[in-house]
Amino acid sequence: MAEDQIEYYKAKYQTIEDLPGVGPATAAKLRENGFKTVEAVATATVSELVVSGIGEATAEKIIEAARKSIAFTFVRGDELVKLRSNIRHLTTGCPSLDQLLGGGIETQSITEFYGEFGTGKSQICQQLCVTVQLPYDQGGLEGGALYIDTENTFRPERVIRISSRFNLDPQDVLKKIIFAEAYTSNHQMVLLENADEIIKEYNIRLIIIDSVTSHFRSEYVGREMLASRQQTLNKHLHKLIRLSRAFNAAAVITNQVMAQPDVFFSKMVQPVGGHIIGHTSHSRIFLRKGRDNVRIAKLTVSPYLPEGEAPIKITERGVEGEEYA
Ligand code: ATP
Ligand code: MG
Repeated sequence: MAEDQIEYYKAKYQTIEDLPGVGPATAAKLRENGFKTVEAVATATVSELVVSGIGEATAEKIIEAARKSIAFTFVRGDELVKLRSNIRHLTTGCPSLDQLLGGGIETQSITEFYGEFGTGKSQICQQLCVTVQLPYDQGGLEGGALYIDTENTFRPERVIRISSRFNLDPQDVLKKIIFAEAYTSNHQMVLLENADEIIKEYNIRLIIIDSVTSHFRSEYVGREMLASRQQTLNKHLHKLIRLSRAFNAAAVITNQVMAQPDVFFSKMVQPVGGHIIGHTSHSRIFLRKGRDNVRIAKLTVSPYLPEGEAPIKITERGVEGEEYA
């Protein structure tokens, strides 16, 4: 466990068997259904556990114990300050972009890069897989990356090139990137739902979904499917935010949009249950093409930062910050 997680993540129970009310039979059912860690139980709903064959009363009891164990319940304002004091910023490797983001990509929340094709969304994601591994004093999180790729655009060669720019051993870097290709929206959701254990095992501090929306767009077509699409996507994003909180990790998603930025996400981050996610935050960065390899990043939504723009460049070395000419 990373040093800065200790305060936030003062887990009382280490394994699901430690939870009061969980005997061998219940533990087996939980594992069988993918609830393999205390975090997974804490972020489950009662009905999910009931479907897994666990009685309702037990389900309620163990979820509550798991949530308490990882400090997920109501928090006092002063405690919230303490919790938020554990938020870290992950460098993008581009000083101009870091500055726009108030120091980098925040942990414990979702950051979305959206823009047209070729605007550098996947390039930024691949670079973050490298920078997350940097030491804290260089803006990293000293952890690994989990990369869920829906468009088959992740390129290890690119990561190798970027690693050497940051003076990291490319082979070591690749070992700390856990990659999964998602073939359908359902597959994408299942991958994330079962990610707890791997996140813990590999000290993952960055979770990427590139792109979060492409499968949903192609599978849920037409107005009549809009509501179910939003609902499913909402569930997916809530799982993501819960993971980012539980592990003090940064969560980054990409979303391709046409020239006219859409409102795909605008209504998406209201907490569904309200009780777990009282302080959901979500930053959005719009990318557009400039001249040649220049891209302009614009912070369009932030919980607390002013809007602003930063130029970046996509080069052989990865994504680089650029000063205004
Ligand atoms: P999409 O919506 O299609 O997924 P994207 O926003 O993810 O697009 P990226 O794949 O991140 O786009 O960026 C593609 C851009 O990166 C292209 O302009 C390409 O020329 C540039 N690029 C990729 N690799 C290199 C490289 N090795 N050197 C310089 N530029 C590169
Ligand atoms: Mg892409």
